[in-house]
Formats: sequence, C-alpha cells, structure tokens
Amino acid sequence: MSLLVVGSVALDDIEAPGGKVEAVLGGAACYFAVAASYMAPVRAVGVIGNDFPEEHLEFLRSRDIDVEGIYRADGATFRWGGRYHDSMNQRDTLFTELGVFEGFDPDLPDHYRDSPYVFLANIHPGLQTNVLRQANAPVFAAMDTMNLWIDTTRDDLLETLSLVNGLVINDEEAQQLTGESNLVRCAEGIRALGPQTVIIKRGENGALLFDAEGIFAAPAFPLETVVDPTGAGDTFAGGFMGAIARAGDTDPETLRRAVISGSTMASFCVEDFSLDRFRELSHEQIDERFEAFRRLTRF
Ligand code: AMP
Repeated sequence: MSLLVVGSVALDDIEAPGGKVEAVLGGAACYFAVAASYMAPVRAVGVIGNDFPEEHLEFLRSRDIDVEGIYRADGATFRWGGRYHDSMNQRDTLFTELGVFEGFDPDLPDHYRDSPYVFLANIHPGLQTNVLRQANAPVFAAMDTMNLWIDTTRDDLLETLSLVNGLVINDEEAQQLTGESNLVRCAEGIRALGPQTVIIKRGENGALLFDAEGIFAAPAFPLETVVDPTGAGDTFAGGFMGAIARAGDTDPETLRRAVISGSTMASFCVEDFSLDRFRELSHEQIDERFEAFRRLTRF
C-alpha cells in the first residue's frame, strides 16, 4: 500500500575519515523514500532549486518513487554540510543553507491524498500538520522532529504529535522533548502526548520500540566498516514504514519486524556516502541481512 513522505531534499557536503564528497544527494525525504521503495510504492513531497541535478530525480524514479510532489522553486536547493570525527559517533554541522527550503509550501498532488501510510520527516511542525490535513485520514501516520523545533515551536509540535500514530526520534531529542533522562520514562511521556508507537533511535546502539505490547529492542547491525552515517535515521524510518505499508497492518508482530527492517536498511546506508549503497542493492542482499539480524538476536 502507498506510503507518502514529506521532508528535505538536499545537496550535502560530507567529510568523514574515509573521504570527502560535495553536493551529493541527501535530505531526509530521499533517504526515507529510497529505503522504503524496496517494500512499498512511495510518493515523495519536497522542494528543489534550479541547481538540483536532473540525474538525482532520475535515480529516485529508477526506484519507482513518485516524484510528482517534489516541485522546483526559483533559487538554490537546500544545502547541508557535516564533518564526522574519527569515532564516527560525533558529527559537527558545518553549514545549513536553507535556500528554497525556507519557503517550502507542501501541496499534495491529488492522487497522493489517499495514501494510507504517511511519514512526516523533520520539517517545521506547522508544515507537518498542514500535510497531514491534506491527506484523507491515513491509517498510520508517523513523524520525526529535531531539537530546533522542540526549542522554538513547541506548541506547534505538540499539536502535530497529538495527530500522529507514531514518533521516530533519537534519544537526545526524546530526552529534550520530555525533560526525562530515562528512555522508558521518555517513551511514556511521549505516548501521553499522542503517538502510541514510539521508536527511540540510539545510533550505533540500535533502536527501542515502545507500544501497547511493551518494549522491543533491536541492535544496530555490527559492521566492520562505516563510511558515512548521514541519513541512517531517515533510512531506518523508511525501512520501518516501508515494512508496515507492505504488511498493510500495524499488528505488534508487524511493528517488531518493521524495526528489524529499519535497522537492516540503515545498516546498508552507512556503508557508503550519500545514497550510493542503494544504487546496486538487491532484494536478495536485503533478505540475507534481515536473516543475519535474526541469527544475531536469537538465543
Ligand atoms: P541525519 O543523518 O539523520 O541527521 O540526516 C541527515 C540528512 O538530513 C542530510 O541529508 C541533510 O541534508 C538533512 N538535514 C540536515 N539538517 C536538516 C534540517 N534542519 N532540516 C531538514 N533536513 C536536514
């Protein structure tokens, strides 16, 4: 079943111990859409500038992603630069140039409106609510957010949270949002705000799912080489929501498989710069790693 995503479409500059790349394809919506495209038909909503290379749109189309909702505005594409430390756990943001993203005004193409599954990636919560209101009562809507919105637009964020079924958030942001340091209490606090399915991402320590059934933990897949962690969280969300859209339900078993699916897709994302690992990735390789995950956690 169809899955709609709204979020940033970017050109990123990345510096990591293994190399440096400039103006590569990035943005939360792209990482999400490409990961989810292995499991469900994806419809993407975003904005790009005059400078956005057509070949990147071609790549998204090659994954059967519907890009009609990505519109071109007059100006520069959103640009973001990050530098990783030797450990890869820490990153400095070098610059954020909003460009056309500053005036982003999502307007869903008519055929997007009936999407049963919706993911609101990290954008202004007012825009997230706007997108949700344009959709016709999705079956399951989930969202992400970031420290900036928790700090500066808390009321808008609380409104969006009250309207969604799920929140996928990293540990520090969960703590900031709830004022709790303990992650179990954070999840309880978030569930009291609206979303009944809460996923707290813990980077290389994996992810925790909190829902009506209790808690489920998935490790991050132990990899020998990590090249570029950029977008891992958005890729996780894409694998998670993609698995839900493919199953067509949000049963506890589906949600648990979806967490492993998200972790599987995120493990590929970090193996190369930008979205490059997905350019040749096959369904067989994904299935193989999903099984490796099963062996890793079974005892
Ligand atoms: P992550 O590694 O999950 O933080 O995601 C990194 C991606 O998010 C990069 O491709 C960036 O282009 C994009 N990004 C960085 N800052 C922002 C922002 N303020 N709003 C939306 N997207 C962003």
